[in-house]
Amino acid sequence: MSRFIHSRYQAMEPYTPGEQPQGRKLIKLNTNESPYAPSPKVLEAVDRAQVELLRLYSDPEAKILVNAIAGFYGLEPAQVVVSNGSDEILAFCYMAFGEQGFRYPEISYGFYPVFSETFAVDGEAIALNDDFSIDITKYFNAGKTVLIANPNAPTGLYLGLDQIEEILKHNCDNVVIIDEAYVDFGGESAVKLLERYDNLVVVQTFSKSRSLAGARLGFALASKELAEDLNKMKFSFNPYNVNRLSMVAGAEAMKDTAYFYECTERIMKTREKTSETLKAMGFTVLPSKANFLFAKPGNMDGTEYFMKLREEGVLVRHWSNPKIVDYVRITIGSEEEMEQFCQITKKIVEG
Ligand code: PMP
Repeated sequence: MSRFIHSRYQAMEPYTPGEQPQGRKLIKLNTNESPYAPSPKVLEAVDRAQVELLRLYSDPEAKILVNAIAGFYGLEPAQVVVSNGSDEILAFCYMAFGEQGFRYPEISYGFYPVFSETFAVDGEAIALNDDFSIDITKYFNAGKTVLIANPNAPTGLYLGLDQIEEILKHNCDNVVIIDEAYVDFGGESAVKLLERYDNLVVVQTFSKSRSLAGARLGFALASKELAEDLNKMKFSFNPYNVNRLSMVAGAEAMKDTAYFYECTERIMKTREKTSETLKAMGFTVLPSKANFLFAKPGNMDGTEYFMKLREEGVLVRHWSNPKIVDYVRITIGSEEEMEQFCQITKKIVEG
């Protein structure tokens, strides 16, 4: 660190992304990417002509992408804001709605407390119940912006829309952000509540269910007024935040609904099969509505299991936080990858 850094950032702990090994052949189940390639329509659309157009800036209004998203969700384009990954939309939310502070679950996406530091927002982390569920009453009348990942990460636990609606009803005077990075794997989007709640922001990503993590595409769905606020942040930070190739890729991926449902259904099927296999081997596995499982081995601690998987060339995610140290988060890979993962796990637990 230099002596020039802003004093506010001297003690800041940045977010630690999951490992992205370059080149080495590993079974990579650590950052919740899709095991499947993007839609074939993406491959067709990102062609030579698009590459040649890279000399020009991208459309700051991202019309083709915004229209494709609005079309899929039956919203007006003015209700959609797009970004360079959903991390960036979350950043815009902190900028726009951070004045009174944020409230979020203590065990959730690791970026939430980091953004509180980055944007000097008062972040209040609320403990989960002992079974990792969220007590929604702790988010009632928050007097600050509420941010909940649904399904939650890394637990995979899901709140029904009736519970999300209760949170919205009890926060009429502040914004409620529902981060739906994993909602396409069996959950129901809160987007249908938008017509009744003007305090709701739904955040989604192309990184998981649409196989475009490397394209960096995220979006928010909200009332026109809230979307306008988020666009104000975007145009005050990086108007060309979505590059040309990603914009084309995202629009095609959003329109190819058949491929989207095919991939998400396959992943859900593999998830359920993997969960049953792990349970039969003595694991505790939380019921997941995401493209990952949060699981604890029966006969060793989470750290040991994590290390042994790594020795066998399998990457999963593990945290040293004592509340979840016994667990690992396992991304659902392809059918073959998960079979290999289960075989390796069997070897490990049988010693
Ligand atoms: N929200 C949650 C809950 C996540 O797990 C992630 C991915 N790590 C994100 C948002 C951000 O995803 P991206 O920036 O790739 O859209």
